Amino acid sequence: MFKSRIIAVFIIGLLTAWSRGLWAQEKSGEDRGKTSAVRFSPDLLDKDIDPCNDFYGYACSKWIAANPIPADRPGWGRFNELAERGEYIVRDILEKAAVERAGRSAAEQKIGDHYASCMDETAIEKAGSKPLDNDLGSIAALHSKKDLTREIVRLHREGTGVLFDFDSGSDFKNASQIIAQLDQGGLGLPDRDYYFKDDPKSIELREKYVAHVQKMFQLLGDDAGKAAAEAKVVMEIETGLAKGALDQTSRRDPQKIYHKMSKQELAALDADFDWNSYFEGVGAPTFDSLNVVEPDFIKQMRTVLDGHSLEDWKTYLRWHVVHSNAAILPATFVNEDFEFFGKTLQGTKELRPRWKRCVSFADGELGEAIGQIYVQQTFGAEGKERALAMVEAIEKALHEDIESRPWMGEETKKQALSKLAAITNRIGYPDKWRDYSTLEIVRGDAFGNSQRANQHELARRLNKIGKPLDKRDWPYPPMTVNASYNPTQNNITFPAGILQPPFYDNQADDAMNFGGIGAVIGHELTHGFDDQGSQFDADGNLRNWWTADDKKNFDERTSCIRDEYAGFVAVDDLKLNGKLTLGENTADNGGLRLAYMALLSTLAGKEPAPIDGLTAEQRFFLGWANVWCQNRTDALARMLVTVDPHSPGKYRVNGTVSNMPEFREAFHCAAKAPMANQNACRVW
Ligand SMILES: [Zn+2]
Repeated sequence: MFKSRIIAVFIIGLLTAWSRGLWAQEKSGEDRGKTSAVRFSPDLLDKDIDPCNDFYGYACSKWIAANPIPADRPGWGRFNELAERGEYIVRDILEKAAVERAGRSAAEQKIGDHYASCMDETAIEKAGSKPLDNDLGSIAALHSKKDLTREIVRLHREGTGVLFDFDSGSDFKNASQIIAQLDQGGLGLPDRDYYFKDDPKSIELREKYVAHVQKMFQLLGDDAGKAAAEAKVVMEIETGLAKGALDQTSRRDPQKIYHKMSKQELAALDADFDWNSYFEGVGAPTFDSLNVVEPDFIKQMRTVLDGHSLEDWKTYLRWHVVHSNAAILPATFVNEDFEFFGKTLQGTKELRPRWKRCVSFADGELGEAIGQIYVQQTFGAEGKERALAMVEAIEKALHEDIESRPWMGEETKKQALSKLAAITNRIGYPDKWRDYSTLEIVRGDAFGNSQRANQHELARRLNKIGKPLDKRDWPYPPMTVNASYNPTQNNITFPAGILQPPFYDNQADDAMNFGGIGAVIGHELTHGFDDQGSQFDADGNLRNWWTADDKKNFDERTSCIRDEYAGFVAVDDLKLNGKLTLGENTADNGGLRLAYMALLSTLAGKEPAPIDGLTAEQRFFLGWANVWCQNRTDALARMLVTVDPHSPGKYRVNGTVSNMPEFREAFHCAAKAPMANQNACRVW
C-alpha cells in the first residue's frame, strides 16, 4: 500500500522523492509543529564562522545545533518544519470529517472514515493477519506457473508491486498522447544497486534485509527454519530481477528509458508471458503500442521466471503481500517493518506516532479530497497573484539570460526562447479535482480501504492510455511542500504547501523572498534547460533542438558542475554521484542566478536600506541558505547518495554560492576564499 506513484519517470522535483514508508519521514511530539512559521532572524547567524569560508555553516550551524533529528525521523530540515505544520492542519480537517453526523458531504465521509479506520488500532489488532487471508489463499491455490499471470493481475490491482510495474505516461516523442508503460519493479530494497554493491556496509545491509524477510515470514506463522529458507529464495529472485534493472543514473537519460514497441515486439522479448491476459485483466483499455522502459529487464525477468519453481514464486509473492501491507497490519508487523526500513536503512530511532502515519496514508490515498478543503482554509487569492508575479519576473530573467549567453548561437537561442515562452505555470491547486465518487471507504475496514484506494488509483491511471494528455492533472496534492517541472508537459507546479515561510513570506522583503521561493521558481524553470530537460522541446517532445556546436558548449559547461559536485563528501568517505545529481545541481545554480537577476531588476538600481545590518544582496543569499538547513542520519545520507538526484543541503548552498562572483562581492570575500570557486561553473 501507499505505493508512491507520484514518482513517475520524469517529474523533476525540488526534494528527494524517495518515499517508501512515508511513515518514517515525519517528526514526533504532540507539541511540535504547532508553532507559527519560523522566519529568518539574524540571531540564527553564526558570527564565529566566516561566510566566505563556509556560508552554509554561517547561515545554518545554529539552526542545526538547535534542531537535532527527532527520534522518529531519519533527518530534519526546514522543509520538514513546514510540512509538519501542514500535518496539523490536515489532522484537524480529518478529525472534523471523522465525526459521524447528518449532512457530512461525500468527501467528508470518505476522508473522515478513512482516517478513523486507520486510527482504530483495537480493530486492527483484533483482525490480526486475517485481512491477508484472501491474498495468501489465492497464492497457495496456484497450480502452475501459467496461473502466475492471473495472480500478478490481482496483486497489481491491489497495489502490491511484484515483478514489474505497469502504468500510463506521456509518449516522449508525441507528448500530447498518453501511452501504456511497462517498467522494471518487484524489488524490496530501494534500488537495484543495493543487490550488488560489495562494500562491507552494503553486504551487512543485505544480510539484515534477509533476516527481516525471514522475520516477516515467521509473523505469518512459518517456523524459523522454513522462514530462513524462504527469505533466501526471495533474495535470489530479487537479485535476479535487479540484474536486468537500470540504475538511477541511467534512468535520468530519456533515451535509455524510451523504447516504444508494438505488442508483438513485446511478445518477442518474452513469448511465454501471457501479456494480453495481463493487460486485459488489469483493466487497461486496448492499445497497440507501449513504452517498454527497459527491454533487458523483461528478458531477464523471463530468465528468472524459468529459473525458479512454482513454489519459489509463491514464496516471493507471499513476501510482497506482507511487505506491501505491513503498515496497515497489527503492531507486530508494523514494528518489524520499521526495524528494517526505518531503523536499519535510514537510521530512524522511533516509529512516528500513529496519527501522523494515518495523516500520511490519507494524503496518499485521498490527497485531493483533503486538498480541496486545505486550500479553502489556507490559500488566498493574494498568494496566487504574488507567486505568479514572481514567476513572471524570473521568466523574464531567464529570457534575458538566454539572450546574453555568449556560448549559444542564434538558432539555438531562438528555440530556447520559444520553449521558455511555452512553459505554463500551475500555482496553488489544480483547476480540476480528482473524482473519488466511485471509491468506497468503509468505516472500520482500514485494510480494505487501502486496497480499494490502490485499485481506484490504478484504474484512474490506466484509463488515460490512448487518450490526449490532460494537463489539469497534478502529480501530488496541494498541501505538498515541494515543486516540480515536467519536461513532457513543459510546465511547472507550485502547490500551496510550499508558498509559505520560510520560502515565501508576505511580511518579508523582496530580497528574502527572491532568495527563497524565487530561487525555487528559477530552479524549476532551469530544469527545462538542464542536461535532461534540454532534450525535450517546447511541446514536450524528445527532440534535439540544439546545433552540434551549442550542444558541445552546453555539455562542457554541465561537466564542470558534474566534476565540482563529484568532489563533495556526503558521509564518511562517500562522495556525491556527480552524474546522478547533475540536473538538480544545474537547476540550483541556474535558479539562484535567475532569482538574483530578477531581484536586481525589481530593485531597479535603488539599494534599499540594510535590514538588521544586512544588505539586500546579503539577505538574498541568506534567504537561499535558510531553506536548506538540515540534519540527516549517516544511514540516510548514505542511502540518498544512491537514490536521490538532489545534493545534500550543505552543497546546495556552498556549491552554488561559490560559483557566483556576486556572492563574493556581497560578502566582501577574498579572491581565493573557499567560497570563491577558482574554476567557477556556469551554465545559465
Ligand atoms: Zn529539481
